[in-house]
Amino acid sequence: QDTTFEVECRYVGALGAVLVSFMDVTHLEQAGQMRRDFVANVSHELRTPLTALLGFIETLRGPAREDAAARDRFLQIMAEEADRMNRLVGDLLSLNRVENQERIRPREKVDLTGQLRSTLKSLQPLADDAGVELSLDIPGQPVTVTGDADQLRQVFTNLVENAIKYGGSGGVVNVSLSLRERDPAVRGPAATVVVEDKGPGIDPVHLPRLTERFYRADSHRSRQLGGTGLGLAIVKHIVNRHRGRLRVESELGKGSQFSIILPR
Ligand code: ADP
Repeated sequence: QDTTFEVECRYVGALGAVLVSFMDVTHLEQAGQMRRDFVANVSHELRTPLTALLGFIETLRGPAREDAAARDRFLQIMAEEADRMNRLVGDLLSLNRVENQERIRPREKVDLTGQLRSTLKSLQPLADDAGVELSLDIPGQPVTVTGDADQLRQVFTNLVENAIKYGGSGGVVNVSLSLRERDPAVRGPAATVVVEDKGPGIDPVHLPRLTERFYRADSHRSRQLGGTGLGLAIVKHIVNRHRGRLRVESELGKGSQFSIILPR
C-alpha cells in the first residue's frame, strides 16, 4: 500500500535549526478519495432516474400527448422512478444519521423478541408476493438488550427484506434468536439474530465488500428490485453503534446467513 507523507518544515529562530516533522496523511487522502467516490456514486444513482423522468416528460409533452394508454403507462413508470429517488434519499439520510450517532451509545431497553415478531409481521405481504414462507424461532420470554429500538428494527427489516428479495427462490426464510452466556465476538453475554435463506447464495469474492455503500453483488437484480445499494452499509453502522458484530456466511447454490451478535 502506498503511503503519502506530508512534510512540515519550520524554521526555529536563533538556533538556526530546521525542524522537520512527518505526518502520515495516507488516511486523509483515503478519506478524501472515499468522499469523492461517494459524491460520484450518489450523483450517478440520482441522475439515472432523473434522466428517465425528463425523457418521459418530453414524450408526454410531444408524441404521447393524445395517447391515453401510453400516458398511463408512462406515468406509472415515472411514479416508480420518483419512488426510487425517494428511497435513495431516505436511505442516504438514514446512513448520515447513523454515522453521526455512531459514537453515542444508545440507551433504550429493547425486547428483541417483540421487535422480530413485528418485523416479520410487517414483511409478511412482501413474502406472500414472493411466495416465501417466513419462520421465526425465538425464546418464549422477552430478550432485552440496551439499544436504539428504531435502528435495530431497521437492521432486522433490511436483512429479512434482502433474504426475501435475493434468497426468496429458496422458498423459505428462517429468522432465529438465541442467547449465549459468553460469545467471543462481543467478549461477554450475547444475543444473536440469524436471518437465513436457501437462495442462490453470494459468490465469496463479494463478501468482503458487501457492506460498502452502493456495492452490489448482482447489480442488475438489485436495480430491478429497487435496491439502493445502501441497506447493508446502514446495517453495518447500526451494529457498530451497538458494539455488536455482523457476520455473513454464504455458499453458492445453498443460501446465505446473516448473523447479528449483540452484547447483552
Ligand atoms: P440493495 O439495496 O442492493 O439490496 P444491500 O446493501 O442491502 O443493497 O445489499 C447489497 C448486495 O448484497 C445486494 O445488492 C445483493 O447483491 C447482495 N445480497 C444481500 N443480501 C443477500 C442475500 N440474502 N442473498 C443474496 N445476495 C444478497
